[in-house]
Amino acid sequence: TVRTRFAPSPTGYLHIGGARTALFAWAYARRHGGKFILRIEDTDLERSTPEAVQAILDGMRWLGLEHDEGPYYQMQRMDRYKAVIAQMLAAGSAYHCYMSKDELEALRAEQEARKEKPRYDGRWRPEPGKTLPPPPPGVEPVVRFRNPQEGVVAWDDLVKGRIEFANTELDDFIIARADGTPTYNFCVVVDDWDMGITQVIRGDDHVNNTPRQINVLQALGAAVPQYAHLSMILGDDGQKLSKRRNAVAVTDFDDAGYLPDAIINYLARLGWSHGDDEFFSREQFVQWFDLDHITPSAAQFNTEKLNWLNQQYIKQAADSHLAAEAARRLAPRGIDPEAGPPLERLVALYKDRVGNLNELADAVEPLLVEVHPSAEMIETHLTAAARAALADLGGRLATAEWQKAVLSQAIKETCAVLGLKMPQVAIPLRVALLGQPQSPAIDAVLEVLGRETVLARLKRWL
Ligand code: GLU
Repeated sequence: TVRTRFAPSPTGYLHIGGARTALFAWAYARRHGGKFILRIEDTDLERSTPEAVQAILDGMRWLGLEHDEGPYYQMQRMDRYKAVIAQMLAAGSAYHCYMSKDELEALRAEQEARKEKPRYDGRWRPEPGKTLPPPPPGVEPVVRFRNPQEGVVAWDDLVKGRIEFANTELDDFIIARADGTPTYNFCVVVDDWDMGITQVIRGDDHVNNTPRQINVLQALGAAVPQYAHLSMILGDDGQKLSKRRNAVAVTDFDDAGYLPDAIINYLARLGWSHGDDEFFSREQFVQWFDLDHITPSAAQFNTEKLNWLNQQYIKQAADSHLAAEAARRLAPRGIDPEAGPPLERLVALYKDRVGNLNELADAVEPLLVEVHPSAEMIETHLTAAARAALADLGGRLATAEWQKAVLSQAIKETCAVLGLKMPQVAIPLRVALLGQPQSPAIDAVLEVLGRETVLARLKRWL
């Protein structure tokens, strides 16, 4: 059965590129009735933080990418890695290397002088007929993997096609440091093996690790999973995504007012396609997803497209859901979402008119709290004539049955009596009630605000 994993290093926020990797690994497992595993690669103690772990867990939950197993933490698996290292030492597929830092530097310098790639020269690698010097006293050895010296390591990458590395390009890399801690490339191998990963779906910045990882798996007699290396995501400008220029953390997208479903739909289309389909649900995506339709070239972020999708998702979202999103955004502004008309009715009025959830919160704000028009707006719209019209209307509204059709009729009567056109009443009315000249249909706004609020807000201008 299919088992995929997402294996982030908790060194910062959950990156949008990481989120797409997670989405593809998740979708692949769902598509094939398999399991999706979350693994936190926290062995880099200097850069890993508990906050970053939390950011990953929160981001995954926000996106709705539920894992079936885990999260596993590499730091909790140290004993296991050490056991495998001991096993490899015993089997001869790894060996102790006592090379000192100075010796290593000298070797590097020589290789650099010869314009060669830095590469371990195998001086502590045991070979039949080779006599190794006695271990220097007081030196704790590192453990190196005994990489094959001949042949090629090759795999059929599910995205990039066949990839081959000559073993002569790979040296005997360190799998345990002098203090006994296992190295990154080694932990990944043991984990993918123990966790029974069948498809490793990850960023193509790991392509160079893959031949080493395959060699270790083979030395362990483990099954080699399939690999799918995803190309990176570029920003709108075609440049590498950077925190300085782009929204890159998943939480940035939450802050900017995107719905997680819109992000998921957008990320799904970033480097993967299903004909010309742009707008589809998570369920539909899972049914369609395969690794054959992933583009091997880099995908470019298109904020306009994402914005369009977000708008579609807001339009079709349930009012109760939008109300909760709006409330979450109004609270930090000191606005009690319970203070005015029911938020569900307010968001229903505006959901077709906004581009994102922050705009939705902005839009409903003046219905919850009175917003005063600017001096300029007062001068333009709340003229003596306009105020006279509002006074007439106020009289009618004081006794009107509070129902959209009746309210609309009241405005028409004011227009008729004073010889005004609809906008000559409706615009001053909006400015007086909401502090701004635009709103959805004014009768709907009146209805949702309620008689008491409408009359109280009008009174100021009479
Ligand atoms: N921890 C690695 C990263 O954050 C991913 C390793 C992998 O997927 O194999 O880039």
